Amino acid sequence: MDWTAEFDKQLAGELPDVTVACDEPMSRHTSFRIGGPARRMAFPKNGEQLVLLRAIGQRCGGRPLVIGNGTNLLSPDEGVDRLVIETSAAFQEITEGETPAAVTAAAGASLARLADFACRRGLGGLEFAHGIPGTVGGGVCMNAGAYGGEMKQVLQSAVVLFPEEGVRTLSCDALDLSYRHSLLTDRPDAVVLRATFQLTVGDATKIRENMRDLMARRKASQPLEWPSAGSTFKRPTGHFAGTLIDQCGLKGLQVGGAQVSEKHAGFLINRGGATCADVTALIEAVQARVFAQTGVRLEPEVRIIQG
Ligand SMILES: Cc1cc2nc3c(=O)[nH]c(=O)nc-3n(C[C@H](O)[C@H](O)[C@H](O)COP(=O)(O)OP(=O)(O)OC[C@H]3O[C@@H](n4cnc5c(N)ncnc54)[C@H](O)[C@@H]3O)c2cc1C
Repeated sequence: MDWTAEFDKQLAGELPDVTVACDEPMSRHTSFRIGGPARRMAFPKNGEQLVLLRAIGQRCGGRPLVIGNGTNLLSPDEGVDRLVIETSAAFQEITEGETPAAVTAAAGASLARLADFACRRGLGGLEFAHGIPGTVGGGVCMNAGAYGGEMKQVLQSAVVLFPEEGVRTLSCDALDLSYRHSLLTDRPDAVVLRATFQLTVGDATKIRENMRDLMARRKASQPLEWPSAGSTFKRPTGHFAGTLIDQCGLKGLQVGGAQVSEKHAGFLINRGGATCADVTALIEAVQARVFAQTGVRLEPEVRIIQG
């Protein structure tokens, strides 16, 4: 049943100021540059708008989906018959926290801006996050991490919307962060509205140098010139996915426009015109070959959106 007419009507009555796009290509909002149209995509400017949007979308049958920068997403070619709520365009405020060395950021703030904000105040701890191209909401959901750092080390608390229970502030412990997992990955209906990070006072120049060093390491080892969603697979216990894929001779393996990167075998890249079907088929081919040759099962880290 078409839910959009009722959604448009209720939105016009309750939230006339929110920007909403019709049939917005997901390829414009995912770093893979893949995905057909979302029936509706809304761009809230603050937490109140996000809460209301989610409620209206749910009520009308739009199965709301909240996304950040779309840097860990694979979206179906046929599009998504859902309300996509995109936080990164307008819900980005970052402020100093209420306690010393704390910083609070809205869900859509980019991790790069957050790390930069902290660095300018001589606050360390987020250097690892500076080169991760996601948002605060996506970063908390995925417990994003790199170069020995992860959100779990610096997250103090997050304000989370639960559809049935309302808005609650949860401690880092209650958010249950572990490797590429959190309460949010188990509860896809829950939404991070904002998060507070407890950082450490340090030297701004050294923090900046550390961020530049990590970015240089990224540029040297990752195929950042091609669209991708970063590491496609989770790190299997005791192994590195990229090393296993390389050892199986799969660098350069291609399905349609999707390819195992020659530079970093852990990245599947869009060489031009790749579809979701191409990437999915390549994921399956890599999984099958790696399992056959090493006995290790690779699990996707990238989140595959249900249309
Ligand atoms: C070039 C490149 C390099 C990368 N390097 C790294 C890396 O070093 N380390 C790493 O961990 N990841 C890395 N990634 C992956 C990605 O950037 C992270 O997973 C990031 O945390 C995703 O954030 P996002 O805002 O883009 O989330 P999205 O991709 O938009 O969403 C990811 C998931 O989070 C959910 N989500 C988003 N916002 C919210 C919210 N407000 N509330 C609840 N759920 C939400 C979505 O529904 C989805 O399930 C890389 C990606 C690319 C393209």
